Amino acid sequence: MSFEETMRLAQQRGFFFKAAESYPNSPAGFWDYGPLGVSLKNRFVELWRRLLVKKDGMVEIDGAQILPKAVFEGSGHLTGFTDPIVECSNCHSVYRADKLIEEKTGKITAEKLSDKEYDELLAKNGVRCPNCGSKLSGTKRFNMMFRVGVGAQGEDAYLRPETCQTIFVDSPLLFKTQRVKLPVGFAQYGKSFRNEIAPRQGLIRLRELNQAEVEVFFNPRTAEGVEKFGSKLGTRLSMLLPDGSSRRASVAESIDSGSVPNRLIGYYLALVEEFYEAAGLEPDKIRFRKLSDSEKAFYAEVAYDLEVKTSIGWVELVACNYRGSYDLGGHARMSGTNFEVDDAGEKLLPHIFELSMGVDRSLYVLLEDAQRVEGDRMYLALRPFLAPLQVGVFPLVSKAGIPEESNRIFLNLRERFDAFYDEAGSIGKRYARADEVGTPYCITTDFQSLKDGSVTIRNRDTKSQERVASDELEQKLGELLRWPPIQ
Ligand SMILES: [Zn+2]
Repeated sequence: MSFEETMRLAQQRGFFFKAAESYPNSPAGFWDYGPLGVSLKNRFVELWRRLLVKKDGMVEIDGAQILPKAVFEGSGHLTGFTDPIVECSNCHSVYRADKLIEEKTGKITAEKLSDKEYDELLAKNGVRCPNCGSKLSGTKRFNMMFRVGVGAQGEDAYLRPETCQTIFVDSPLLFKTQRVKLPVGFAQYGKSFRNEIAPRQGLIRLRELNQAEVEVFFNPRTAEGVEKFGSKLGTRLSMLLPDGSSRRASVAESIDSGSVPNRLIGYYLALVEEFYEAAGLEPDKIRFRKLSDSEKAFYAEVAYDLEVKTSIGWVELVACNYRGSYDLGGHARMSGTNFEVDDAGEKLLPHIFELSMGVDRSLYVLLEDAQRVEGDRMYLALRPFLAPLQVGVFPLVSKAGIPEESNRIFLNLRERFDAFYDEAGSIGKRYARADEVGTPYCITTDFQSLKDGSVTIRNRDTKSQERVASDELEQKLGELLRWPPIQ
């Protein structure tokens, strides 16, 4: 299904809406989650908690969204977190230099060229204002952080552009209070803010976004000897290399060929691959793209993007960055706090490997991937444990005590599942409405239910129905809606 159609259906069904849509000219890049979107997001984050945070024994925090300016001096964002922009001399439209060159040449342009290199490429390709055709200014730098004023004096602070800075800044306290040792992952799910020049494509590029980030702290001299990092050597990864070649190989083979530098990075790439497969994506739609030097973020020593194939091309869902001790070193210098950790008698600044997941774009990708059309029938084939509404409860007809029995079952199931009751319209219409929002199971009571206490369970994907005793329903649904095992 196309991007536009997926977005239209998702908005129509209440997964998400443009923020402040009732006001004209509200800025782009802000979205609200509706009831179904909230539920889907909560379940997706729970899957992340289970298959990454709990599976790996990580520690989770939830930090403040506004941080003082000094934190971003320490992190390098005040100078490094910028987009190259050009302005039209006539209509004053502002564009990203790299995107303009990309549109003109049809080739992906590196994000990390110098201003002079952008100017040369713009001139060489004769790029002019796409809006009015006039001459463009030279390349300038635009910092993408949102600045806010704290207190009556309006002290400089910023909305965090990535959740991970809180983890770095809090890490001395985490080591002090949590009795954790290297290597250890600190995880955080929450909001980040980026003042994008041209937010677009619905949930793909946002100014206010949900991230689920993991920062693995480790000792680079001893990490390779840690037993668990050898436990995913057989997991297969698809990898697109900077020279354009691609290969599918196990973690062990990827380390041998040099496309993955070590077992620690291989292990975490494998966890992310397994996470998205568990969320419902086929392995042939998932690949890691190893970034070239000029594409890496300003702090990254080696970097991979996990990308998923969609109707608008490959979309990056997770940035996997080896950040070295760049962040902790910066915060130690700027704050005067000691960020060193004791690792079996050795004092060191830990190195960091990061898995930075975009939650909103992941949800979009799962929704697009799950759309199924069969003739007149449309359904969302989300994995049952991710479905925003898990169980629909319907009386076959609205008479003879059947609605009462159906409602009794609904009230009981509601204790444990996200259930809803629906008696409006024909049973076919009710199944269709449930299918469209991905409800995996519908329970129907009928005349036979009154006689023998049985009900039918209908499967969303196969439309098949099975008759079960209503007092076994809770246990049966519990099995059908079970999370993938953590082990
Ligand atoms: Zn113009």
